[in-house]
Amino acid sequence: MSCNNKGRLFIISAPSGAGKTTLCTMLMKKYPAVNYSISYTTRAPRENEINGKDYFFIDKDTFKKMADNNDFIEWAEVHGNFYGTSKSQIETALNNGMDIILDIDPQGAMQLKEKITNATYIFITAPSMNELKERLVKRGTEKDEHISLRLENAKKEVEYFMHYDYLIINDATDEAFKQLENIYLAEKLRTTQYSKVIEFMHI
Ligand code: 5GP
Repeated sequence: MSCNNKGRLFIISAPSGAGKTTLCTMLMKKYPAVNYSISYTTRAPRENEINGKDYFFIDKDTFKKMADNNDFIEWAEVHGNFYGTSKSQIETALNNGMDIILDIDPQGAMQLKEKITNATYIFITAPSMNELKERLVKRGTEKDEHISLRLENAKKEVEYFMHYDYLIINDATDEAFKQLENIYLAEKLRTTQYSKVIEFMHI
């Protein structure tokens, strides 16, 4: 019997191009209990993005209504668009024992740090700004002006790293994944994860 049956929340931030999506996808593939929370956004979908899988794509009015209705556990304006995390989605998933990754920007992460202490805060970055730029250009999902905006924002975002529990500098994917996996496995062994009286106590 597993006594360690509580879902755990992992809050992960990274500037665009740091490789966060690749690393999180690798983690979810290896550990099926890990899932993404699907955020709500007013950003237009990119090619290949699916509504309800990558994001819930909504208009600004709907977003505002949801924010006013307190439906989000946090929300922020990032790169000119609004993004928010659904409160009920997180609660349901954690109650079902799922581990949840919140892929959110530092503004959102700092809002959560005030409210949720029993969670793991991880910051991922590339080894340099040049490397970030190269990866963003290579990725080819953003127009030139959007790349400049994302790089400008990256400079501000990395200043927040000291507020996170862990820092992963993603120089090589395999090494960075090992680090993320180690963090995940260790955090799942925290005493706060155990909700039942466990056998060794009765020896
Ligand atoms: P993208 O447009 O590249 O999918 O995401 C842009 C930024 O928005 C990323 O830094 C991502 O972490 C952040 N983001 C995505 N969903 C949320 C959310 O629900 N809340 C906040 N605060 N940021 C989010």
